Amino acid sequence: MFSRVVLILVTLVSLPLTGWSMNVHYFLNVQIDPENQLLTGMARLHADDNLNLTLTIKNLSDVRVDDQPTSAVDNNLILPIQKGKEIIITYQAVLNDKSLHFVDPENVFLAGNWYPQPDRLVEYALSVTLPKDFLANSAAEKITVQTTEKYSTFTFEFPYPLDDLSLAASKNYVFKTDNYKDIVIETYFFKADANLADTYIEYTKKYLARYEEQLAPYPYRRFAIVENSLPTGYSMPTYTLLGQAVIRLPFIVNTSLGHEILHQWFGNSIFVDYSKGNWAEGITHYLADHDYANAEGKGAAYRKQILLDYHAYINDQNVQAVRQFNTVGDKASQAIGYGKAAMIFHMLKQKYGDKLFFTALQDFIKSYSFRQASWDHIQAIFEKHTGHYLDRYFAQWLDRQDIPHLTVEPAKLVVNQGQLILNFTVVQQTSPFQLRLPITLYLSSGKKTQQFIEISKAKEKITLTLDELPTQVILDEDYDVMRQLLPQEISPTLAAAMGKSNMLIVAAKEQRTLYQPLIEAINPNPINWTTPQALKFNQLRKNSLIIAGFDTSPLEQLFGKQSLPQEGVRVIVHQHPYNDKEVIVQLHAKDNNEVKAAQRKLSHYGHYSTLAFTAGVNTEKNLTVSTAGIPIFNHSPTQALQPDQTAHLNDIIPTIAKSRVIYVGEQHEKFSHHINQLMIIKPLHEAGYPLAVGMEMFPVSSQAILDEYLANQIDERTFLKKSRYFSQWRVDYQLYKPIIDYVKQAGIPLIALNIDPAITHKVVKEGIHNLTAEEQQHLPTAMDFSNNQYRQDLYQVFLIHQQQFDHQNFDYFFQSQLLWDETMAQSAHQYLLAHPGTKLIVLAGNGHLMYRYGIPERLHRRNGEPFTVIIQDEKMAKGIADYVLLTEAIQGKLSPRLGIWLEDKNNQVIIKAVGEKTLAYQAGLKVGDVITQFAGQDVQSSADLKLALFYTQPNSTVTIQTIRTGKKLTQELSLSEEGYFH
Ligand SMILES: [Zn+2]
Repeated sequence: MFSRVVLILVTLVSLPLTGWSMNVHYFLNVQIDPENQLLTGMARLHADDNLNLTLTIKNLSDVRVDDQPTSAVDNNLILPIQKGKEIIITYQAVLNDKSLHFVDPENVFLAGNWYPQPDRLVEYALSVTLPKDFLANSAAEKITVQTTEKYSTFTFEFPYPLDDLSLAASKNYVFKTDNYKDIVIETYFFKADANLADTYIEYTKKYLARYEEQLAPYPYRRFAIVENSLPTGYSMPTYTLLGQAVIRLPFIVNTSLGHEILHQWFGNSIFVDYSKGNWAEGITHYLADHDYANAEGKGAAYRKQILLDYHAYINDQNVQAVRQFNTVGDKASQAIGYGKAAMIFHMLKQKYGDKLFFTALQDFIKSYSFRQASWDHIQAIFEKHTGHYLDRYFAQWLDRQDIPHLTVEPAKLVVNQGQLILNFTVVQQTSPFQLRLPITLYLSSGKKTQQFIEISKAKEKITLTLDELPTQVILDEDYDVMRQLLPQEISPTLAAAMGKSNMLIVAAKEQRTLYQPLIEAINPNPINWTTPQALKFNQLRKNSLIIAGFDTSPLEQLFGKQSLPQEGVRVIVHQHPYNDKEVIVQLHAKDNNEVKAAQRKLSHYGHYSTLAFTAGVNTEKNLTVSTAGIPIFNHSPTQALQPDQTAHLNDIIPTIAKSRVIYVGEQHEKFSHHINQLMIIKPLHEAGYPLAVGMEMFPVSSQAILDEYLANQIDERTFLKKSRYFSQWRVDYQLYKPIIDYVKQAGIPLIALNIDPAITHKVVKEGIHNLTAEEQQHLPTAMDFSNNQYRQDLYQVFLIHQQQFDHQNFDYFFQSQLLWDETMAQSAHQYLLAHPGTKLIVLAGNGHLMYRYGIPERLHRRNGEPFTVIIQDEKMAKGIADYVLLTEAIQGKLSPRLGIWLEDKNNQVIIKAVGEKTLAYQAGLKVGDVITQFAGQDVQSSADLKLALFYTQPNSTVTIQTIRTGKKLTQELSLSEEGYFH
């Protein structure tokens, strides 16, 4: 799509109330003296009945009725008119009101308040006298000109009612004319643009042909394209008025021209009953702008843009129902009256098909030409042609202010007698709409199919029967439904920043003047200014922000450290990490001149996320990628690898040894993964590389204990106790013992990388903003929330965990994961900085390493050093890692498992459940027992119990002391050899 100019296309004019039953006849003669901005006019009117006519005479002077001076109240002149008796009004006007009048010695444009204007539709006969070298245009089927030595008089024939006359005239017009069938096409272009006339005429013919074919014959005998100097586009019966700045834009013939021509049917011959809402912009936008994009294969993108604009500009204060929309005032009313209204027609067309849709519109045109119509008439026409009551459809879209908010609960695949069945639930988060939703299925064979479902309840269970395994199932992938976009569907754009009413500016005091013009161009009404130092976390969290300068501490806290741009002006729009309704704009400007040059351009680039300008010339424009549609089901296609092409772990050691940082991922419970980690550490150490091993399993706070243990100052049991290994990490220490024992005897330092789990636990429940000032001290000094893929993958993880645990807020979950990764990256970075010759091997869960967006890129952002990512037993997806190890299970020595579920409460360990055929069951342990001692060790927590279990020996018998209903019990448990190898 092209970048848009600030171009407001509206229909002026035309409110016939009762079709042809006009009874006022109005002859208007005016002389215009452009040199002096003076107008002298005479109106002659008569009526077919006795009536009182109210005329607005605002801006007019020396008004005389039948040669008598008159006094008006509030600019309104009330005239009793007797049937058959003519009334003559003479008046003068000084035309210097810039908003509706534009008059200079060479150009005239008049719309409203330039003649005594009746409060109803009348049929006008207009004649205008101007200096001889002027050409004039107004609504007319035919224009005749009489010329004297000094003057030209134009007479405009238009035998239809109008509520407002307009006039465009200029000394500089080059007139051109042509025909399409019996329709006269005329252009009034300024001399400088006269060469564009032929192109406009050719396109006009194309559009007339298109809409005559699609809809109905063109309603008039003439169509004129008239240039003027205002930066706008208007459509009036029989002509369109396009500003010079507009007419010169190369894409106008492909877009706005067709839109204005289509208005001749919708708005300029079927008139809008404004008391019941303006439907004409919706249908025109749909059959013009939307259909032109659709013809280029960009229909889905165009509709997504409609939803994005709605998201960007609509808030609780400016939301209105479509039926309340009258004329476009700003981007918000445009998002409703053009965008949402166009989607209402799109959904009708999707449901009933092209043929019925156009037949109904043809009938609509036939029935309402030169009459007024409302949404009710459109509903009636579609009811007639579909044979359905469409009350609910039109009421929910026209009268409700909100739009559907859809989400999907994760799908389950069921196989029933060889038949694949996909079950999922579509949830409407607000009061339910009746909707027809498209579902796109991508099948493993590469085929793509589409199905439709109808929903009308808050929760709708859907069952799809499939022939093949799908790789992806997506709801509304092509944006066929007017609905709220989910956060992952929204690219942060400059337009979103432009629509914000809570914009906070963050700029150092001495930079304000420099950035002011750019900020004004983005959002002229910020709620406040603050400095990077004074910015409070709560201000940051609640608002959209513009942050000036790339080297400020708030930016580093949000998107990592930024390098200073080369361009004159650079703009990056981010999704707000703490608030999915807000955006953050970061701005860089080299100097005043660059600011001035770029300022005027910004508003044209609203649909982008990243922009760069040098001397006002756009050098970069990018849109951050977002997902298409709402994912229902994802399943990577089954892969086939050729084993002959794979290498063994040993083969890759020389290659990975070249990296400064080597990440080796794991699934924590897999013994084979830990053996592989050891088999990477060992050869590198033996090859003589100075090494350190960084571990996810220990928080930074336990580094001192780790050091004491490695230095043999404490024994293993003390180390495990003091590091709170079993309460903080929980995974059986037997899995890590081989590695830690090795590095200890080899003298390799162990580095605790992780954040204190108490902090991430709190963040996942309450968000970063609820951390105390003391807790916030432990946050990494730089964070980068901007990786969209990372965010979206975590969203999938969240959907699964949400049901297992009680993580209700995705943003908090996202924050906790990011804190985790940024802290590990920061700890690793600090160690590497202090130990320049050392390589670091990082052991962490696969999830923190794959696609490199967890720890690896966050560390690389800090140090730029080469790294290798190895993960184990994950899918062979492109880009997931440098190496994926496929392992075979190894029976390793583990601590025995009792087979009980425990609860920690008031320093007591209570049994919540006992599994059948488990050690605990054999020992006679029961639900409700409190375990007080195990193998001679006091037990006050499940961590104590795990530690005690870790130190049991195969083929031994241990005692367990419990309290059961107040009584002390001692039981014996024999631990067989097999229990240790599982
Ligand atoms: Zn329009």
